[in-house]
Amino acid sequence: MTRVVLSIGSNLGDRMAHLRGVVDALRPRLLAVSAVYSTPPWGGVPQQDYLNAVLLAEDPELEPSDWLRLGQELEQAAERVREVRWGPRTLDVDIVWAGHSREGEQVEYRSADPTLTLPHPRAHQRAFVLVPWLDVQPDAVLEAAGRRLKVREWLSALDAAEVEGVRRTELSLGPL
Ligand code: ADP
Ligand code: MG
Repeated sequence: MTRVVLSIGSNLGDRMAHLRGVVDALRPRLLAVSAVYSTPPWGGVPQQDYLNAVLLAEDPELEPSDWLRLGQELEQAAERVREVRWGPRTLDVDIVWAGHSREGEQVEYRSADPTLTLPHPRAHQRAFVLVPWLDVQPDAVLEAAGRRLKVREWLSALDAAEVEGVRRTELSLGPL
């Protein structure tokens, strides 16, 4: 049984259509969907604001590598072109966290493999991941940089300006 936290983002073309495409494709596996947030681009390349959301999903059959493949298929379906690193993209699907239950307890996957690093190595630094994550799992815990903290604690360690840049919109990806 794997449960994953996915971060999805788009800042090119019909941004909501790209996010909705992910929700439609994953719908039977979705447990929760965050609000949609508008976020300034990250990484210094001038480009349109992002729309970001976080999804909580579960599937007894899928391993983390299957989730990565599924995310990449969805990116390709949105005709994502990889040109500039951290440049504009129709769709980005990142696996922020993956775990499975063993004897009723959530055990998280940890991996340093560059093709699938878990938990996502930059999630704890990104307000556009942490803010929507709290919508779907208010008590989530994330281990990063050798520390195990609640997501809301990671968030309060970030620069206030960065957190304020993540603005909740009236747009919605629900109901499931
Ligand atoms: P980013 O999401 O960092 O802006 P990309 O979407 O272009 O960049 O991803 C680059 C590579 O990151 C992918 O080819 C993928 O194999 C790898 N990767 C490593 N860990 C993860 C993860 N947890 N989720 C998604 N992709 C990952
Ligand atoms: Mg990505």
